[in-house]
Amino acid sequence: MPSVNFFGPGVIEKIGDRAKMLNMHKVLVVTQDNLAAIDNGPVKQTLASLEKAGVDYAVFTGVEPNPKIRNIKAGKKMYEEEKCDSIITVGGGSAHDCGKGIGIILTNGDDITKLAGIETLDNPLPPLMAVNTTAGTGSELTRHAVITNEKDHLKFVVVSWRNIPLVSFNDPMLMLDVPQSVTAATGCDAFVQAIEPYVSVDHNPITDSQCKEAIQLIQTALPAAVANGHNVEARTKMVEAEMLAGMAFNNANLGYVHAMAHQLGGQYDAPHGVCCALLLSTVEEYNLIACPERFAELAQIMGYDTTGLTTMQAAQKSIDGMKEMCKAVGIPASIKEIGAKPEDFPLMAENALKDGNAFSNPRKGTKQEIIDLYQKAYDGI
Ligand code: NAD
Repeated sequence: MPSVNFFGPGVIEKIGDRAKMLNMHKVLVVTQDNLAAIDNGPVKQTLASLEKAGVDYAVFTGVEPNPKIRNIKAGKKMYEEEKCDSIITVGGGSAHDCGKGIGIILTNGDDITKLAGIETLDNPLPPLMAVNTTAGTGSELTRHAVITNEKDHLKFVVVSWRNIPLVSFNDPMLMLDVPQSVTAATGCDAFVQAIEPYVSVDHNPITDSQCKEAIQLIQTALPAAVANGHNVEARTKMVEAEMLAGMAFNNANLGYVHAMAHQLGGQYDAPHGVCCALLLSTVEEYNLIACPERFAELAQIMGYDTTGLTTMQAAQKSIDGMKEMCKAVGIPASIKEIGAKPEDFPLMAENALKDGNAFSNPRKGTKQEIIDLYQKAYDGI
């Protein structure tokens, strides 16, 4: 976790003073061009606060969704040319991960592909703060940087405590104009990030309570935020939920949904939240036999009455809850709809088993089982 986490309407105004407090003299603001163009949007508000505090900056707008190695290299070049000494990311997971990637190659060597894996970083990143604008990935809090290699379409993760921003800002007022489809996709990502740590082999009582609270918040707040993006209460609850889910998976880790979703995102450049939602019920139904009692608890958390049911029957109810949530916010029924092709499944399955998120999945799968899961998600939920 960052040591300071600002949460609530209006907190963005504090960023200039925090930058000053951290001795940031010239900040590289890492963001996307469409976000930088919004009048009085998240980027403009960040820059206004920095100016008020007398902190200098340069703005890098070259972040692509599912950020690529070429983005982090371009960002590093600008950081050096502009003689920056710190980084502020403004956006969703793509901006945060790109900013982390820039920091990683500034201090840990140019070839980030060699740093894929867990705790691979020897040196600290430059000082980093994160302004979050989607609810969401939790990346503003987490030790994960997810980067896509545009050469082989492989999405990989650098997991290190050194990646964690010093300060995070979650201001729901910056999220009111997030488009409906992005609200649904990012909200489903938060939902998956509350479910996977609950059944992860690394869960603990603290992460359990974070997951429980996050799931219950998302069940009501996500459909409401999708229905009306200007519902401040729903947006605020979604921020709370995504932060809780981020804290949970930062410690309890994730599972095959994320490991497999990274391959879909890398191969077809599809939105991460949609990839996760498309795989959720298929993968968790496969996981049921590994820890049915945990899934039965999930069903109760989701509000199902499980009295009189066997553990397996109760566990199955949680899968109904996952399907219902994804359907309610308009997630498609098959990975076909993001361009998935069965001939790609063997390589994607091989890479999914090597992804940093695979190791905490409750059931240990074979390559053929992962191929079958992709096929099942292709045939339709
Ligand atoms: P994103 O950052 O790609 O943003 C999606 C779209 O929403 C973009 O077009 C963006 O410009 C737009 N947008 C964002 N905020 C907006 C706002 N306030 N108003 C209007 N438009 C806005 O999407 P994301 O789902 O937040 O991030 C996805 C990335 O994060 C993926 O690469 C995924 O793998 C990664 N991820 C990282 C972690 C982590 O812990 N590091 C966890 C999960 C996912």
